[in-house]
Amino acid sequence: MNSVDITTVKSILSQPQKIVIVPHRNPDGDAMGSCLALYKFLKSKGHSAQLIAPNDYPKFLKWMPGNETVINFERENSKAKELIEQATVIFTLDFNHLSRVGQMETVLQEATADFIMIDHHQQPSDYAKVTYSDVGMSSTCEMVYNFIDFLGETNFIDADIATNLYTGIMTDTGSFKYRSTSSKTHRVVAELIDKGADNMEIHSKVFDTNSPSRLHLLGAALSNMVILPEYSTAYITLTQDELDKYEFKKGDTEGFVNYGLTLEGIIFALIFIENREEGIIKISLRSVGDFSVNEFAREHFNGGGHNNAAGGRSEMSMEETIFHFNEILKKYKSKLNP
Ligand code: 5GP
Ligand code: MN
Repeated sequence: MNSVDITTVKSILSQPQKIVIVPHRNPDGDAMGSCLALYKFLKSKGHSAQLIAPNDYPKFLKWMPGNETVINFERENSKAKELIEQATVIFTLDFNHLSRVGQMETVLQEATADFIMIDHHQQPSDYAKVTYSDVGMSSTCEMVYNFIDFLGETNFIDADIATNLYTGIMTDTGSFKYRSTSSKTHRVVAELIDKGADNMEIHSKVFDTNSPSRLHLLGAALSNMVILPEYSTAYITLTQDELDKYEFKKGDTEGFVNYGLTLEGIIFALIFIENREEGIIKISLRSVGDFSVNEFAREHFNGGGHNNAAGGRSEMSMEETIFHFNEILKKYKSKLNP
């Protein structure tokens, strides 16, 4: 964040504000961790604050400090709308385009509050008064740590804030192994442990939460995997019938897409998951190296994200989507298998 923006934020936060904090739809650990940490920080600074999630999120994130205060926009619609209308400041965290909040988009567009964006995805749009965007950052949680640091107020980081920030950095870096994990990330994480984040316990609360049905769903996903060595690509499909058979719950497919990348020689992995209720196939894309899944998702599947991790969607059937995908892939042969 540049010094002009820091001064602007300091001036805005020097008066008590009515603040709303918003993560993206289907929030993940980084989205919830950054929002909950900022929520607690702003409350300790004497602001009135409310975290409004566009929709529900997985159970493995519901232990996080402050979780009980979160408003679900879908479930508590009129209360959420009123808070957004009355807000003087709205923080949007871990996304950079208002279309990423689903149904909440129009309500946010009509809001009169000053927007502050903190985000690490590619190609930020220009809706905020203050934009703190850095695509080199491991996570929005690392940026929220920096944000508090820019304000000179890391002394406000207590064990709850540290726990939320640690959780998001851990989940967005694949437990500190992705390329975006810098020495600075580790310094921030060390600081968070010193401030009370229990690293072993947090890891266990997020990852040691399997149910038998989730492991069986993973089994189905892995046996559906299609490997295309000529494109250095592996993809998984899961139909709604398969999800139903294994009692799918939100968050159950988290991480499945990464298995493709553990195959030697595979640099592009995808998972296609049918969502009959929404009438879409949700797609997660991952890569290693220079192949940009952000560009691929943006160009072909109405999505985006980071160079090595992105998401998108298809409105066709699973069969048509896979056919279409295989056609597209032909154009990328030289990029994927040089
Ligand atoms: P995931 O595959 O885990 O849902 O998402 C991977 C990354 O891509 C995350 O950083 C997520 O925020 C982003 N992402 C997921 N779905 C979409 C989408 O539909 N549009 C855009 N722009 N980004 C997405
Ligand atoms: Mn993130």
